[in-house]
Amino acid sequence: MCGGRFRELISTLNAELISAGTELLLGEIVDTNAAYVSQKLAEIGVDVYYRHTVGDNLGRLAEVLRHAFQRSDVVIITGGLGPTQDDITREAIAEATSRPLFRSPEAVATLRAFFAARGRVPTDSNFRQADLPQGGVHLHNSCGTAPGIRLEHEQGVVFALPGPPVELKPMFENAVIPDLLDALGARHERLHTRTLLLCDIGESNVADILGDIIGEQTDPTIALYASPAQVRVRMATKAAEEQTARACLAETERLIRERLGEHVWGVDEDTMEAAIGELLRQARASLAVAESCTGGLFASRITDVPGSSDYFRGCVVAYHNEIKMHVLGVPESILQQHGAVSEQCAEAMVQGVRSALGADYGVATTGIAGPGGGTDEKPVGLVYVGVGDANGTHVESFNWPGSRAQFKSRVTQIALNLLRKRIIGTV
Ligand code: AMP
Ligand code: MG
Repeated sequence: MCGGRFRELISTLNAELISAGTELLLGEIVDTNAAYVSQKLAEIGVDVYYRHTVGDNLGRLAEVLRHAFQRSDVVIITGGLGPTQDDITREAIAEATSRPLFRSPEAVATLRAFFAARGRVPTDSNFRQADLPQGGVHLHNSCGTAPGIRLEHEQGVVFALPGPPVELKPMFENAVIPDLLDALGARHERLHTRTLLLCDIGESNVADILGDIIGEQTDPTIALYASPAQVRVRMATKAAEEQTARACLAETERLIRERLGEHVWGVDEDTMEAAIGELLRQARASLAVAESCTGGLFASRITDVPGSSDYFRGCVVAYHNEIKMHVLGVPESILQQHGAVSEQCAEAMVQGVRSALGADYGVATTGIAGPGGGTDEKPVGLVYVGVGDANGTHVESFNWPGSRAQFKSRVTQIALNLLRKRIIGTV
């Protein structure tokens, strides 16, 4: 990196993101690149002040770029680097910086080699990807043909990155981040976070219990996020030194755990299914599940964990009553007297799947996902979740109306949590 306003800026940088593509404006694809780039920039302490989505239109793209150059140190544009006529990011950068495009001989050679290695011949339009605004450099694309572009100009620096996320991510991590860290210098402050994962408590309860801490706290900042059957408490602080940040976060974590410790089951990227896997492994115990209303989602979450075959025996998606009876051995009398959505049925499913699949722990879900099938006595959203082992079965019921997807996801999270509590001996 050399010269220019960009290089002189030490310790803070602000960035502006532009996602190019008419398909984004039409809602045909979701702009995951913007979320990804924003997250990564936040991690290294680069502030993102603006984000735009612009269609494949040269005039509008150049106008947004020009505006961005005036107010932002770093402009990152994704998409529009392909070989077709609507891929106009190169032209837009050239126009917005008033620089001519030229065809890079090195990039032409790389393209030829890429095609030759696959026994194909590039067309004229493929060579457009070798075009570069004067003063710019290409960024290597390890997963595709379109090189990225880095151009330092009078007002800052612009990076153009390919649209496909598999091409964008390695380029961003290998070329853009080191470049920005270099510009920021060693003294710059980056964002450090610590997230506590809570269960068996609602977001508003957490907000009440932590109200004074959240109100008075400015560093670290504290934010609450609710997701199905779980609340996350995220603490964030900016610091140049890892140690300073850790000390600051640890002190606030201590305050929060003092009040909510019993609800904290994990931190940061922990998942309940991985935590359960660890507990089962330590206990040398195995698991089987009988799923009615969750339709296999519980087993899917459990098997998201590498190595889950060490403890997971399997799953019966016992949707139909005949399966509950003939595969799991739920007595017909229970189904007739209490129905499939009942405490008694959940209990029989837990013990039935334990013995059918030969597992130490059993889990069962049975409920009414809706939208149809509810009655006054058993409304849509009613669910029984059971966990058990050789010492008996524990069943809890919940009532959560919502979409089928929300219902399945919540019930699965609750079932995982109940299993976790059964293994550690609190239910
Ligand atoms: P482009 O480089 O604009 O031709 O985009 C090529 C492909 O990359 C598109 O068809 C999408 O599949 C993907 N893509 C482009 N922009 C984005 C974005 N902002 N977020 C996620 N995917 C994208
Ligand atoms: Mg495009």
